[in-house]
Amino acid sequence: MNTTTGLVYHADYLKHDTGTHPESAERLVSIMQKLEGTGITEKLNRITPIKASKDQIRYVHHDAHISRVEAICARGGGMLDLDTPICQDSGEIALLSAGGVLKAVDEVMANNMKHIFALIRPPGHHATPKTGMGFCVFNNIAIAAEHLKREYGVKRILIADWDVHHGNGTQEVFFEDPSVLYFSMHQYPHYPGTGWTDEVGKGEGEGFTVNVPLHAGTDDAGYLYALKHILVPIAMDFKPEFVLVSAGFDAHISDPLASMNVTSRGFGLISDVIKDIAEKNSAGKIVIALEGGYNLNALAESVSAVFESLLASGERSEKKEEGIPENVRKRVEEIRQIQRNYWSNIR
Ligand SMILES: [Zn+2]
Repeated sequence: MNTTTGLVYHADYLKHDTGTHPESAERLVSIMQKLEGTGITEKLNRITPIKASKDQIRYVHHDAHISRVEAICARGGGMLDLDTPICQDSGEIALLSAGGVLKAVDEVMANNMKHIFALIRPPGHHATPKTGMGFCVFNNIAIAAEHLKREYGVKRILIADWDVHHGNGTQEVFFEDPSVLYFSMHQYPHYPGTGWTDEVGKGEGEGFTVNVPLHAGTDDAGYLYALKHILVPIAMDFKPEFVLVSAGFDAHISDPLASMNVTSRGFGLISDVIKDIAEKNSAGKIVIALEGGYNLNALAESVSAVFESLLASGERSEKKEEGIPENVRKRVEEIRQIQRNYWSNIR
């Protein structure tokens, strides 16, 4: 048994029934089959989540949003927004989803493990304080960041969001908060429409939101180039005490909902970069929460690649810079021009 890496999962996550929606229970079934079939689960500590309390959900969300979810569930289910069906059980499962990330954080803070990947649903990064949207009910990663601040007094938290969609909800929660550095790389233009380069935070939080909108078609090399030249120098300057990840796999070349060209192996290489940041700053502490990813096979392969990255010892990624398209180089340089105002490592 490996003592560094853990997996959060609960069969009740399958009870969030969305009908024929792409954000389906089959996503988790596919992932778990793959992890079990390849023997990866044998190397992991299994962690059973418990539901977040309503007080913990209130770290981020307004009472009106929580009550509305409860009311829709009480009448047997319905639509939270145009894209977000919920069933009778979804409110309780959404508490278990947020609770999965909280449990992961507690295990890492207790030094029981270094890295934990929470395989949860419903996802969270589009949920704003006032509403669920984009398949998301409660903002799991934002609630976990608030938990780290309030329960453990953590002063610098990095949230790295590699879902293909911009995490508008997470950005909104921490837009004026210098204790949480929100970094997102996403397809642009694309749903939900936010996440342009000039959204950098506000007030005391100015400079602590970093958006990397990328053109459709960006591949592994483009993602790694953007990470190396934007996230890595900024993170080494910010020095996070804890690293949280919103891990969506919808930037995969086979994903039906977006148009990026990241491979399953590429997600492992992206994970290597984040893991290296954590090793150098937060004593390796990382909690990863599942967000999107809608091709069942690609999702399972990509999650496996991330676990392989977490389980690997020592340096393993090669970072070559050939074949970087001009549109990626240009966009990265534009972002560096903006971020230079806030981060001395970017010169
Ligand atoms: Zn997504």
